[in-house]
Amino acid sequence: MTEQRANEPEVTWLDPDTAQLRQPKSSHWEAPFLYLLFGRERSLLIDTGATSDEEQFALRGTIERLTSDWLRRNPVVFVRPYPLVVAHSHAHGDHIAGDALLRGRPGTTVVGTSPAEVIGYFGFRSWPDETVALDLGRRVIDVIGGPGHEPSAVVFFDRRTGILFTGDTVLPAHLYVRDLPQFRATIERLIRFRDDPTAAVNELRGAHIEMSTNPGVAYPAGTLHQPDEAPLPLRPRILDRVLAALDELTGAPGERVVRRRFIVVLDR
Ligand SMILES: [Zn+2]
Repeated sequence: MTEQRANEPEVTWLDPDTAQLRQPKSSHWEAPFLYLLFGRERSLLIDTGATSDEEQFALRGTIERLTSDWLRRNPVVFVRPYPLVVAHSHAHGDHIAGDALLRGRPGTTVVGTSPAEVIGYFGFRSWPDETVALDLGRRVIDVIGGPGHEPSAVVFFDRRTGILFTGDTVLPAHLYVRDLPQFRATIERLIRFRDDPTAAVNELRGAHIEMSTNPGVAYPAGTLHQPDEAPLPLRPRILDRVLAALDELTGAPGERVVRRRFIVVLDR
């Protein structure tokens, strides 16, 4: 089910307790995807979008609407204010700009965006190799260290839906590698996580779509209209292809490895 009003995100319920939000292209060409996951004790918002102006992108209003809709459907959850944790796939501006709209909201914790704040909030003792659990109340999210695109990046795994929320690390777009050894270690970590028989990873959902349905062809940065964009979800086996693409890099700045569903760019 997809619904949209003027400055509001495109909202897609992935299951009754999981909403995918996409910031409209009209408010910012990056059009990032955000995710809102509801549990019995609190909800988790992954990323806040590229704009801190509610007029341009009604993040706060949308969170209020989706939360009250969900609470109406779940009368067993009676704690008020119903807590919200705002966390981030990573600290780049197009994923954290909306924090300002949610800071000060009743019952809301906005997790800081430095590596130290991320490590401290989630309780990593061995960053980035450890996986830590975040319990939303009968819904456990695994938080996996994910630096390489950006130093404070994490990947969230929702055991309920089997979705790995991969931010700007793995997505149908350019994979901008800022720190190659760390990025490679993150992909290897995600492969180990995927191959753990207890994990049951169904698909990956990242934070942008830049690829077209034409294999290996991306829309240029700044594109506002993407009529033939590739689908967002990626199969878990894409991780092997990302690792193989990283192996082709020789280390030259700006180097690119083009694949059907993504383009690796050595960005340093
Ligand atoms: Zn980024």
